[in-house]
Amino acid sequence: MTTATTSTGPAIDQSLQHVYAEVLRRNPGEHEFHQAVEEVLASLGPVVRRHPHYLAERVIERLCEPERQIIFRVPWTDDAGQVQINRGFRVEYSSVLGPYKGGLRFHPSVLLGTVKFLGFEQIFKNALTGLPIGGGKGGSDFDPKGRSDAEVMRFCQSFMTELYRHLGEYTDVPAGDIGVGGREIGYLFGQYKRITNRYEAGVLTGKGLAWGGSRARKEATGYGTVYFANEMARHAGLSLAGHDVVVSGSGNVAIYAIEKVTELGGRVVACSDSSGYVVDERGIDLDLLKDIKEVRRERIGQYAKERTSARFVDRGCIWDVPCEIALPCATQNELDEEAATTLVKNGLDIVAEGANMPCTPGAVRVFQEAGVLFGPGKAVNAGGVATSALEMQQNASRDTWTFEYTDNRLAAIMHNIHERVVSTAEDYGRPGDYVFGANASGFTAVADAMLAMGVI
Ligand code: NDP
Repeated sequence: MTTATTSTGPAIDQSLQHVYAEVLRRNPGEHEFHQAVEEVLASLGPVVRRHPHYLAERVIERLCEPERQIIFRVPWTDDAGQVQINRGFRVEYSSVLGPYKGGLRFHPSVLLGTVKFLGFEQIFKNALTGLPIGGGKGGSDFDPKGRSDAEVMRFCQSFMTELYRHLGEYTDVPAGDIGVGGREIGYLFGQYKRITNRYEAGVLTGKGLAWGGSRARKEATGYGTVYFANEMARHAGLSLAGHDVVVSGSGNVAIYAIEKVTELGGRVVACSDSSGYVVDERGIDLDLLKDIKEVRRERIGQYAKERTSARFVDRGCIWDVPCEIALPCATQNELDEEAATTLVKNGLDIVAEGANMPCTPGAVRVFQEAGVLFGPGKAVNAGGVATSALEMQQNASRDTWTFEYTDNRLAAIMHNIHERVVSTAEDYGRPGDYVFGANASGFTAVADAMLAMGVI
């Protein structure tokens, strides 16, 4: 039997429990989606008490149901001539603030519930940026790891051969996520262009700089994560400089988070991939890491083979490594209650989620009870999608901006999100509660736009 609360997460207000019960009933087995909805609903009690018309108009029930969900077959041929079948998804969640916007994830773990959790988060994240973008997410259970470039290309072409009819610069604008970087976006864009006979640059973001991409987009999620963590530190009278930082993952978000932490004077002592983690007391050598991960596409253990100050750990948990600042930048539910307890014991001050929902509800509770500053992903990692919106602006005006200008816009956006989250939390008498501030602020923006547009 399902209940309206988990044993470790925060409680959902009585007035909203029927909404959560209905989400569980209509979406059986989609645990990550349940978790993401529960986390938002648990914040909304005070909001609906202040604005009871959100309840009367059933705004939350509407938001828990995506506007459109697309599931399709993706057949392709591997290098051995064998036909392979994957499943493709696009969940177009909410378009009240702008065209659906959110990344594509290619990873064997992707199920409909994964895409729905990510899409649900994306609605509120995008609202927090203050930019005109709705929420959506997509992907496939295709695993690019170990596949040749030609196989990845054939898969992307087949994926886009179905997806293209649902996209458009005013309709739905995907980007990258786990397993989807510049290479995949290139193949996807090429196929879109070929099928539609239109050079519609604003239909995908994360493009190469030579063909409509934005400077600083590649760096944006990682940099934005660190800008936000820096704002949290400053607000609490702390600093990143001189402190030890652990960053999980070694993909797009992690690499550029490491770069920005290092630039701001922090020392990143560990990072990881799904095969294990490396500890480097001298601080991660970014050039080596980029070469191994971005150029050679090798496993993280290779780093320790080429760097004498580093060791590779293939079992155990990266969160055992002591640090004052933790930036989980790999995947959902990678940091649980036990890991959180260890981090707190080791003197943690700040956690900022570079990934989407990397901390379990139990971990978040441990952090909050211990007085650790906790920044949720929908605020912390919003810099990626915000810079995607800046890429769309450049495409619409046939313009390209400098790195410095774009990066400054990103930093300003992250500052504004931080202000917005902090002031919303204070307004509701919950100073320092970034989870509440992000959920209440993002939700209110979307809800008000929905109400203005009638029953949609
Ligand atoms: P990448 O594919 O570039 O990198 C993902 C990294 O996380 C890799 O190092 C990968 O290791 C590791 N990882 C993935 N799954 C697992 C797992 N189950 N256990 C341990 N490690 C794992 O993805 P991104 O950096 O783009 O995305 C990382 C996170 O950030 C995701 O949660 C994504 O949704 C979120 N995000 C990304 C944005 C972006 O702009 N890219 C924007 C906002 C959020 P391995 O290679 O071994 O799989």
